[in-house]
Amino acid sequence: MPHIFCIANQKGGVGKTTTTVNLAAGLAQIGQRVLIIDLDPQGNATMGSGVDKRTLTHSVYDVLLEDATVAEARVRSPKGGYDVIGANRELAGAEIELVTLERRDRRLKTALEASAADYDFVLIDCPPSLSLLTLNGLTCAHGVIVPMQCEYFALEGLTDLVNTVKQVHANLNRDLQLIGLLRVMFDPRITLQQQVSDQLKGHFGDKVFDTVIPRNVRLAEAPSYGVPGVVFDPASKGAQAFVAFAHEVVARAAQPTPAVSARAQA
Ligand code: ADP
Ligand code: MG
Repeated sequence: MPHIFCIANQKGGVGKTTTTVNLAAGLAQIGQRVLIIDLDPQGNATMGSGVDKRTLTHSVYDVLLEDATVAEARVRSPKGGYDVIGANRELAGAEIELVTLERRDRRLKTALEASAADYDFVLIDCPPSLSLLTLNGLTCAHGVIVPMQCEYFALEGLTDLVNTVKQVHANLNRDLQLIGLLRVMFDPRITLQQQVSDQLKGHFGDKVFDTVIPRNVRLAEAPSYGVPGVVFDPASKGAQAFVAFAHEVVARAAQPTPAVSARAQA
C-alpha cells in the first residue's frame, strides 16, 4: 500500500504545488515510486512536472467521472522521475457534476485502489479551498501535509484546516492524520517569521517538520521550464531542502502517527 498524502492549505499561493512537485522529485531521487494527482483546475502541478495540460488525453476529471482508470490517465513526468495524473480547466466542472453522483466524495479513493501497488507514495495537490475536490483527496489520503508561510495570520487559517481534517477523520476517513506542517518560503532574517515559527512549534510540537524550505528563486523559476526545482538546479538551497524533506517524509511515513484528535489543537 502506498502512503497517500494530500498537500493542502485552503489559502492560495502558500507553496502547495511547489511542495508537491519537489517532494515528488525528491522522493523519486531516493528510489521511491511516486504518483502526483493534480486536483487543482489550474493544473500547475501538471505543467510544473513538464506535462502539457492542454494536450492531456485523460485527466483527473475523467478519473473522477469513471471515464478513465488511473492506469489510463497517468503520464510520466519527462524529467521528474514520477507519474502524474494531470488536471486542467475541465476539472472546475467536475465539482458541479459530482454533486449529483453517487459516492461523490470517494470516487478518487475507488479509482486509486486498482493501481495502489504501483507506488510507494501518492501525493495529491489540492486546490485552495475546502471543496468537493479537496474532500475527494482527503477521503482517500492517509495524511495531510500543510505547507505554510510563517506570517501573521498563518495560525488562524490553520485552525480551520485542522478542524476540517478532524471532521473528515470522524465522518469519512478513519485513516486520515495530520502528518505535519512544513515551513516554506522561510527567510530567517525576518524576525516575525522566526516568531511565528517558534509559536508554531509551541502549538504543534513535533507535528512541525524539522526541514525548513527557504525562499529560493530557483524554486520559483523551475516551473516555467516544466522541471521540478530539485532537478532544475540540484545545487540550489531550495532543491537541497526538498531532498532533505523527502528523507524526512520517508522516515515519518515509517512511524505510526498519533490520532489527529489527540494533538494539534491550534
Ligand atoms: P499554491 O500551490 O499554494 O498556490 P505555489 O506552490 O504555486 O502555491 O507557490 C506560489 C508562488 O510562490 C509560486 O510563484 C512559486 O513559484 C513561489 N514559491 C513557492 N515556494 C517558493 C520558495 N520556497 N521560494 C521562492 N518562491 C517560492
Ligand atoms: Mg497550487
